[in-house]
Amino acid sequence: MNAPVRTTCPYCGVGCGIIVQPAAEGHRVAGDPEHPANFGRLCSKGAALGETLGLDGRLLNPRVLGRDTDWSEALQYVANGFNRVIQEHGPDAVAFYVSGQLLTEDYYVANKLMKGYIGSANIDTNSRLCMSSAVAAHKRAFGEDLVPVSYEDLELADLIVLVGSNTAWCHPVVFQRLVKAKERRPEIKIVVIDPRATPTCDIADLHLPIKAGTDVWLFNGLLDCLHQHGIEDRAFIDAHTAGAERALTVAQNTAGGTAAVARLCAIELTALEEFYRLFARTQRVVTLFSQGVNQSSSGTDKANSIINCHLLTGRIGIQGAGPFSITGQPNAMGGREVGGLANMLAAHMDLDNSEHRRIVQDFWRSPRIAQRPGLKAVDLFEAIHAGKIKAVWIAATNPVVSLPNANRARAALGRCELVVVSDCAAETDTTALAHVLLPAAAWGEKDGTVTNSERRISRQRIFLPPPGGAKPDWWIFSEVAKRMGFAGGFQYGSAHEIFIEHAKLSTQGNGGSRAFDIGGLAALEPEGYAALAPTRWPVPVPVSVSVTLTGASEPPAGTHELSNGAGQHSACAGEPSNGRRELPIGVGQPPTGMRQPPIGAGQPPSGAREFPNSTGERLFADGRFFHPDGRARFIATTPRPPAYALDEEYPLVLNTGRVRDQWHTMTRTGKSARLMAHDPEPFVDMHPQDALLSGVRVGEFVRVITRWGSLVARLRSSGEMPRRMIFVPMHWTNMFSADARVGALVNPAVDELSGEPESKHTPARVTSFVVAWQGFALSRRPLVLRDAAWWSSTPGEDFLRYELAGHRVFRDWAPWARRLLQAPPDADWLEYVDRATGVYRAAYLIDDKIQACVFLSPRPDLPPRAWVSSLFAKRTLADCDRAGLLMGQPADATSDIGAVVCSCFGVGRNTLCVAIRDLGLRSTEQIGQRLRAGTNCGSCLPELKALLNEQSEALVP
Ligand code: SF4
Repeated sequence: MNAPVRTTCPYCGVGCGIIVQPAAEGHRVAGDPEHPANFGRLCSKGAALGETLGLDGRLLNPRVLGRDTDWSEALQYVANGFNRVIQEHGPDAVAFYVSGQLLTEDYYVANKLMKGYIGSANIDTNSRLCMSSAVAAHKRAFGEDLVPVSYEDLELADLIVLVGSNTAWCHPVVFQRLVKAKERRPEIKIVVIDPRATPTCDIADLHLPIKAGTDVWLFNGLLDCLHQHGIEDRAFIDAHTAGAERALTVAQNTAGGTAAVARLCAIELTALEEFYRLFARTQRVVTLFSQGVNQSSSGTDKANSIINCHLLTGRIGIQGAGPFSITGQPNAMGGREVGGLANMLAAHMDLDNSEHRRIVQDFWRSPRIAQRPGLKAVDLFEAIHAGKIKAVWIAATNPVVSLPNANRARAALGRCELVVVSDCAAETDTTALAHVLLPAAAWGEKDGTVTNSERRISRQRIFLPPPGGAKPDWWIFSEVAKRMGFAGGFQYGSAHEIFIEHAKLSTQGNGGSRAFDIGGLAALEPEGYAALAPTRWPVPVPVSVSVTLTGASEPPAGTHELSNGAGQHSACAGEPSNGRRELPIGVGQPPTGMRQPPIGAGQPPSGAREFPNSTGERLFADGRFFHPDGRARFIATTPRPPAYALDEEYPLVLNTGRVRDQWHTMTRTGKSARLMAHDPEPFVDMHPQDALLSGVRVGEFVRVITRWGSLVARLRSSGEMPRRMIFVPMHWTNMFSADARVGALVNPAVDELSGEPESKHTPARVTSFVVAWQGFALSRRPLVLRDAAWWSSTPGEDFLRYELAGHRVFRDWAPWARRLLQAPPDADWLEYVDRATGVYRAAYLIDDKIQACVFLSPRPDLPPRAWVSSLFAKRTLADCDRAGLLMGQPADATSDIGAVVCSCFGVGRNTLCVAIRDLGLRSTEQIGQRLRAGTNCGSCLPELKALLNEQSEALVP
């Protein structure tokens, strides 16, 4: 057996460490107990990674114009195509659209090629869609894109404010850390600010279901309230910030007092006051924000309105406090380090700074350097549509699904002269439009680094040989660069060489002027790079890095030690602040643990900046920021409503986001049957009153319509939705469903500063999607769907599941069903027909083993899918199973486990409800002991708690 390999999860920005135990029968995946992001925990997605390593659907060979070819021809084709367009139309006529899935080394090479050699900044990334508003806010406030908080700070905080973040589902291991922290210290307060009552509210002491888009009013109101009541760190403000007066004036004028804010945000005044009180009296506050803040036409102002509150109170640069933008993707942060966004240069340098351009060009010895920012994602695809960009290279992303107004993105690619796509997956909505397909190595097959939300650089390591012709992305970009005539700049032999160059660049012209400095890693030998332990930047020179040199069987992964430390910053010592007044709104006590005067307070910033703590990790501990004067900036944030208002035609807000067990466009998680079991089909979540007013029913198909597009999905009412808002998951593509790409419906408005789209607020309406029949089919072989007006498909264990709906009704369904299920003439055919009710059921067996079945009805009253699925696990069907197929229900009710709640152990809702009721289970621990549910990754714990509540309410007479 091969040695275990330490690597990093390829999904979300938590960046969990993983230990992979390679084995012939299937690779085993476990959380790395030594990794500081997760300490051994994994969520359902990370835990199922071993099930996603198969080669089904992989792109294994280069393809040019639909024909398999070799690398040599494909690379030359791409190089010639890009060179031709550049010669005829200039460098701004080409573009790269890359991804937060890329490793830092891949990102670095792509950015170098575009900005330093082609000479355009038309390289943007899908990270634009998730956190670019936070980047813009950081730059405005701090002078550099810096996240000053770590996961550990969340555990040290006394108040955690989660804004626009369904942490339980989107960053599950961070959520688990919060759960554990609250168990250890129940006095920690957690406030969730989100229009939806998501599973994250499970641990909330207070939920503020604000009206969508009103965040700036809320935080301006907080800023004003804090100021009015003297809850501010005047010494910090005077010594380390600028712009407070204007920000306070704007906040006061626009908030108009707490009662007005409560009205604007459509929340209870008492709840708002409670939040303000908690914030006012707690020194250790972390405000974590995510896509609910960022994905807005005022996303940058929203983030700055949060940061303002931390600057006013000096709650930044100290343990357990600060604003915390948590990233969606595994390497969004790494992409920012190398300048993967169209408005950035490498190593946190600025495109619009001529000295920075000179530094980077000199370091790269490149023939040219981009002179101005390139096009951001939405504008970039508009330019393709307009014919201004004539060649585009899309790497590791699926913009035809994920961009707003996605049908226009599809049309843009359809009219583009040259579309190159490098990807692991052969068939995506985007690869379907490519002239050239380049097979990229996938997770486990490539080597490099990623940086998580807390600035921690971790290694992704190889444990599988790349299949077929798959190559690392850095290699593909380098080989094209060489063929474009740039051989001198791209002679890389390994990811290590690229990382060293990246680390050296971070020191160029730095001298403490930029916090992103990993010069301390620039001397790593290949062995040191191979064994690099998770390391938070900055890591300036001098530094010594102690590393483990072998795999996971070795002692804990090494830690880095900085030799320039001077002891922990001594803030949070518990003294009350000077001159605090009690809050009339009932704060009642002065803030606890106020900040000590910061090191160097009142001193002018010096040129050579030191990192004053022993780990080099506590940014802003000395109160110095990265604007030229060393001061942070308050930003005056004038609230504004979302770009498109609701009206009579479109009276609902369409909100989009993730579901618990899926990742992006499901090219990887869609391979895991147990991950697909949790939400096996696209859905629309809606408040019951809105369903009533829209004339639609839960369980039936509905059409969601916006000015930009429409989709069809089944309606549910989870109880999470506020009035006048619907939620549709972002994951479904044309590969998984006939008509459920939510990106096609999302408005193309973007934040003026960040270019981030407003994916959380598109005016919409919901109507019924009238069908004559609906149903589902399960088959061991892929089916060819005919006569279905709508479908979605899901892999199960040993079968595929199809949800179906149609308009055309047959008098005799048998020929249709036999053709659909591809039943051999001599197969054992079971059939039930009820012409009076329109119900039809059919299945065929070979040697008593079920091969395929289909169930149709004019109504949603179909047999339990979980029970029918379970029949495919049986070697032979018993007579009662056959009878059940014909009756449309199991002979034994307990064989229907219901919708899967715990993906890890396949525990369904019905099983849980029966156990809770019959065994008298009262806690998630008891459920775990009896059924194992919730005892592995913990992702389902909020749902288990909800079931416990539901069942106990049902028992109340
Ligand atoms: Fe991966 Fe889950 Fe960790 Fe995110 S929380 S990095 S998806 S294991």
